[in-house]
Amino acid sequence: MILALESSCDETAVALFDPSRGLVGEWVHSQIALHEAYGGVVPDLASREHLRHFAPLLQRALAVVPAGEIESLAVTRGPGLAACLAMGLATAKSLGLAWGRPVVGINHLRAHAFSPFLPGHAAGPERFEAELAVLLPHLGLLVSGGNTLLFAIDERRRLRVLASTLDDAAGEALDKGAKLLGLGYPGGPQVERLARAGSPSAYRFPKAIARKTALEFSFSGLKTSLRYQLEKMTPAEIAARQADLCASYQHAVIEALARKTRQALEGGAYRSLGLSGGVANNLLLQAELEQIARHRNVPFLRALPQHTGDNAGMIGFAAWADTEAGGVAADGYALEISPSLPLAR
Ligand code: AMP
Ligand code: MG
Repeated sequence: MILALESSCDETAVALFDPSRGLVGEWVHSQIALHEAYGGVVPDLASREHLRHFAPLLQRALAVVPAGEIESLAVTRGPGLAACLAMGLATAKSLGLAWGRPVVGINHLRAHAFSPFLPGHAAGPERFEAELAVLLPHLGLLVSGGNTLLFAIDERRRLRVLASTLDDAAGEALDKGAKLLGLGYPGGPQVERLARAGSPSAYRFPKAIARKTALEFSFSGLKTSLRYQLEKMTPAEIAARQADLCASYQHAVIEALARKTRQALEGGAYRSLGLSGGVANNLLLQAELEQIARHRNVPFLRALPQHTGDNAGMIGFAAWADTEAGGVAADGYALEISPSLPLAR
């Protein structure tokens, strides 16, 4: 039984993962309401909230599985906000010390990368291992507020980054666009909701890609072009055309993600396509990627809604499934936070 803790940004989360049974329970406290007033996450406030919420979440987990049954702890060591990561690490190390259990430091991005495989574990660990053998090599798209990454997982579960963004992340582009449109934070879900009533071809925004041939993403030009468009309009016009603006802007972001994913999938012998991270909640993006996978005749795997945003379930799962993570002291007491940890480490 693995007790997992996550506190890299604005979610305090605890989960229990049993490699033979799967996820036993997940508990999360989201701070979105607190940070909404500031239009983004305030690190010092976030870390105080983690301090406040870990104990009650842990109490709930320990009511399900007593401390004596927990064999190891898994905790996010990075990337993330330093003050927030420190809260999770300090909590996990203290419990590990008190219970005499090892603490494993988990790379949050690798956990996201493996999260589309989590539902497959429900069939049991043996079935899972057999299925994974058929699904690798895997092409994954990780899209969140801080990252836009295309990566490969090979047959030995080694992870390799194929492309990232030169500037803003996809979620960040949606959030910043939403802000320009006078919408609240986080903007992605609001843009998606308003876009339903609009036309994706009402406005022409530039494709959010660096070059046609390279896999790299670039979203800052897109955001600038939205700003120029809005400067040409009166507040009344903007309000009247909000749905069209949202639909066209969202379309440009998704088009870039879909085009580069298709290009990468066609360029390799991948046997599955995965989608993870907060932007993976977007239904249009899901539909686009599903179609790309179907066209190549490979299974499309996506993280469950409860595992797209930050969560501890994927941390516990990665502690077991990500056999190539490596590099982490086994007793965990020497563990340190790694605020800028890259995906492939
Ligand atoms: P994360 O960084 O993984 O916590 O995810 C948060 C990011 O996902 C933010 O940038 C949100 O705007 C974005 N996001 C969440 N839901 C959606 C959605 N339905 N459509 C597009 N973006 C979304
Ligand atoms: Mg979050």
